[in-house]
Formats: sequence, C-alpha cells, structure tokens
Amino acid sequence: MVLSKPAFEQGPIRPPNEANSLLLRLTRNCPWNRCLFCPVYKTKKFSRRSVDEVKKDIHAIAKDKEKIRQISEREGHGGEINRAVVAFIHAEQPELLPVAFWQYHGGETVFLQDGDSLQLPAAQVSEILRLLKEKFPEIKRVTTYARSRTILRRSVEELADLKEAGLDRVHIGMESGSDAVLEYMKKGVTGAQHIDAGLMVKEAGLSLSEYVLLGLGGKNLWREHALETAKVLNAINPHFIRFRTLAIRSGTPLAEEVQKGNFSPLHDDEVIREEALLIDNLEGITSYLYSDHILNLLEEINGKFPEEKAKIEQALAKYLGLPERKRELFRLGRRAGYLRTLDDLENPSLKNAVENIYNQVLNSGYSVDAYITQLLGRFI
Ligand code: SF4
Repeated sequence: MVLSKPAFEQGPIRPPNEANSLLLRLTRNCPWNRCLFCPVYKTKKFSRRSVDEVKKDIHAIAKDKEKIRQISEREGHGGEINRAVVAFIHAEQPELLPVAFWQYHGGETVFLQDGDSLQLPAAQVSEILRLLKEKFPEIKRVTTYARSRTILRRSVEELADLKEAGLDRVHIGMESGSDAVLEYMKKGVTGAQHIDAGLMVKEAGLSLSEYVLLGLGGKNLWREHALETAKVLNAINPHFIRFRTLAIRSGTPLAEEVQKGNFSPLHDDEVIREEALLIDNLEGITSYLYSDHILNLLEEINGKFPEEKAKIEQALAKYLGLPERKRELFRLGRRAGYLRTLDDLENPSLKNAVENIYNQVLNSGYSVDAYITQLLGRFI
C-alpha cells in the first residue's frame, strides 16, 4: 500500500505533552544544530518557511477538518470524531490522519515546529497565529520550542505581541544551568542567558516550560550540573520544569566522546542521586515539576513547588534506600514496561513477572545493566 502524505508539512519532534496537539511547521530543523547529545536534525539543514507557505498549510488543515466531518456524517456518526471514524480514516484516507487524531483529541492544542520557531520575525509569527485562531477559534493553547539565544534577540514587546496573537507557552531546552556543561555540550548559551531569556518570556505574559536533561554532566560534572541548574531554575521560577534523562544515540558527537573516553555517562542510580541533589537545591520557586518522558526512571517525580517538594524528595529517597537487587528489579521492570512507579514493586503479580525476566536475564549470561541498555535502545 502506498501511504498518502498529508496535504501540509510536519516536522519530526514535539514535546511529550504535545502528543495530541496539531503540529504546525514554521521552520525546518534547528538553526544551531551543534549540541553534542542531540541526534534530531544532525544531517538536516535549517530553513525558514514563508508566511504564505504556512498559511497554505493552515487552509489545508481546515479543509482536512471539513472532509473528516463529512466522512463522520456519511458513516453515520453525526459529525463526531470518534474511534470508529479514526479507524475508517486510517484504512481509507490515511493522509487525513494527523488532523483526524487532533480532532479526536479535542482539536484545542497546537505546537509550532521545529526546534526554534521564533527564528521567524515576530511579526510573521503573529500573522500566522492570527490566521490559525481565525480558522480554528476553538484552539485553547498554542506552544512552541525556542532557544534562549533566539529569545534574547527579541524584545519583551515582541514577545507580548505574540502572546496577544495567540501564543501561550514557550518550551526552552535549557538542559543545564552549568556553564561548564553547556560549553562542553556546545549548547551555545550560558546559564545567565537562560535566566535572561526565561525572565523575558515570563515578563511578556507567556507561560514558560524549561527542559532539564538529567545526566548531562556525566561523571565529571554531575554535581555542578545539579547545583547550577537548580540555581538557574530558582532565578527564573518557570511555570513548568520538565525532566528528561540523557540517552546517548550512536552517531552523535557525544557517542564519539564516550568512545574516546572524554565523557562517562552516569549509571541510573547516579542519575537519581543527581536528581535528588538538584531538587534539594530548588528553593523559592512555585513551578510544577514533571517527569513526563519515557526515559526518566522515576515517573512519580511530579508535583507543585513548594507544596509537593517533600513528597518528591521522599520518592527519591525511597528509591535510593532500596537494597541493590530491588533497585535492579525496579530498573528492569520500568525499562521493560512492567512497572511505572516504585509502588508497583509491591504488587505481587507485577513483581513476579519482573523477577522472572530478571532470572532469565541472569541465566542467559547477560548482566542486568547490559540488558537494560538494550531495552533503552527502543526509546532513543
Ligand atoms: S538547540 Fe535543540 S534541536 Fe538544536 S541541536 Fe541543540 S538540542 Fe538539538
């Protein structure tokens, strides 16, 4: 079967919490593209899309939405976009699937792609946002990725105009607050610049989500990574802090650094120790912390600061206080998809299932760590 393409363009990535959003592409790839750990756009060239191109996409999406509504009517679903309608579209008109999924999930959120949408002049982004809101007045949230360095090239007034035109949230890949880590990883930004950019976003009235990459300091800089990142987050007090965990994809410059012996990745247990130090040093903030990425070992590290800091710290202490075999069991069960939280270890049937795998791994001569690394490969 030849799969038909959608009538509009979409890029490769979005934040995990935008899984149900419409992806609207304003630029292609990343203008920086030098971060050692980042596999996403390495072989691809950055380009800006013209306002006309993006506007054509918005019109195409509106047409797709109408076609989907008509299919729903014709198939006896009264215009409702339910599972049966999505299944029908999957089988008969797969080119409509991105909009059908979006509609199925409510059709109220949009994510602007790719890695740094604010590379487009603010006036152009505003023009696009206004058409988007005009065509889809039901949209409740529009978000984008942006680099701190790019934000610093805008004024607070320009950012406020974007807010007025319909942008709600900016996701920034802060990764670390440590200048040593940022420099080594070639992130192209300093901790101080992250602070300035984050404060500008907030001053403009936009919601701010800062992504932190656990493990990015490796064995040499883990302590500095934790302490300096906490310091920068404390200075910004973003609305959201989101953790992801470093996973090194082969072919990236960081994988070469590992081979040369220049970077030593942290073991899962060391990442949790680093995470605990970082959280311990978060002070005076009112952010929500989320661990909504599949690569994070402890999914339950979520909560509002300062109210839920103690609860989060208890979960980290609980993991670190487990005997080694139980930590191994949990890591294996989590990576194999059996366990989600530490409490799942108390569930006898889940624990038995993980113990069976554990014994099979040991009997096959594999180490648990090697097996977990293999499992993690599925998510990288
Ligand atoms: S700025 Fe973001 S998208 Fe670009 S290379 Fe770095 S991590 Fe990847």
